[in-house]
Amino acid sequence: MKLSDLGEFGFIGKIREKSHDKNGVILGIGDDAAATSITPGMALLSTSDLLAEGVHFRLDWCDPVTLGRKSLAVNLSDIAAMGGIPRYALLSIAVPAGFSMEFLNGFIDGFLQQAEKHSVSLIGGDTSASTSGFFISVTLLGEQYPDRIVRRSGACGGDLVCVSGTLGDSALGLELLKSGSYSKEQVLKHLDPTPRVELGKQLAELKIPTSMIDISDGLHADLGHILKASAKGAKICIDNTPLSGIFRNSVSKNSPDYYRFPLSGGEEYELLFTLHPSRLKDAEEAAVKAGTSVSVIGEITEESGLFLAFADGNSYAAELNCYDHFALN
Ligand code: ADP
Ligand code: MG
Repeated sequence: MKLSDLGEFGFIGKIREKSHDKNGVILGIGDDAAATSITPGMALLSTSDLLAEGVHFRLDWCDPVTLGRKSLAVNLSDIAAMGGIPRYALLSIAVPAGFSMEFLNGFIDGFLQQAEKHSVSLIGGDTSASTSGFFISVTLLGEQYPDRIVRRSGACGGDLVCVSGTLGDSALGLELLKSGSYSKEQVLKHLDPTPRVELGKQLAELKIPTSMIDISDGLHADLGHILKASAKGAKICIDNTPLSGIFRNSVSKNSPDYYRFPLSGGEEYELLFTLHPSRLKDAEEAAVKAGTSVSVIGEITEESGLFLAFADGNSYAAELNCYDHFALN
């Protein structure tokens, strides 16, 4: 069955049937606009991401359910990086003629699985035809008390630079997907990332981070965003970047990728944050509760500049490129 057989309104009706409204939804899918409430005293957090076929994903690399899960995950990660609580999602898609309903049902199921997991209600969106590829635009609304919202701009000299989980896995997965030879585990983090929503929320509630960002562009670039916003510098010990067992087994220590992937690989969706050294223990406890870990990878300096060095003090000299959509490659 094709989307054209069901029609736009038939398809929207199906999405509506499958989605479950959570607390706060006054009016969900079906009217001209949704009506929702937020917790009194909290501020509304809003974020949006666009995924374009061929740019952000390839249909021959992932199944529709996983793509649906990732479409929401990337937005959940942005709310997590603010220390927010995700609440409502809007999903807009442009679908090429001839797409099977099997594919679209899988995609919606994956999206709703991820929404359910994080108590997010799908409250609306838009559905259009596309003449060139599948486009997915997700807007996610969240909430948090204004004084708990964590910005990029609060890092102080002497703060520790911390990261959740492990780094380099997504870049490794992407490289292996391109090569065509890989195991399921090796590409899992790239195709189906876990947004650190619970950790971000707990850190914010305990007012632990002085600044925070999620790693979507790569550690080097995203730490750069924190340093610029905070007008500070940092020293990073690259031997302290946390690596997974899969990564260690897949990449030789002699390969330049052993450092390049964790330092500049994008789409990790781990949290990168700074904290006063006295709060490290609290952060480690929060991470355990949230089912992940926290590693200290360096320190914020009053002097500007980002210095990457090995444990023996030698500096890391290789150039790191971060992905830029509009850079001329
Ligand atoms: P309008 O023409 O006023 O934009 P639509 O027919 O596009 O209305 O949408 C009807 C309802 O279905 C709205 O509540 C809209 O938010 C919802 N909707 C449309 N597409 C999607 C989608 N892909 N996912 C979730 N809700 C959707
Ligand atoms: Mg519409």
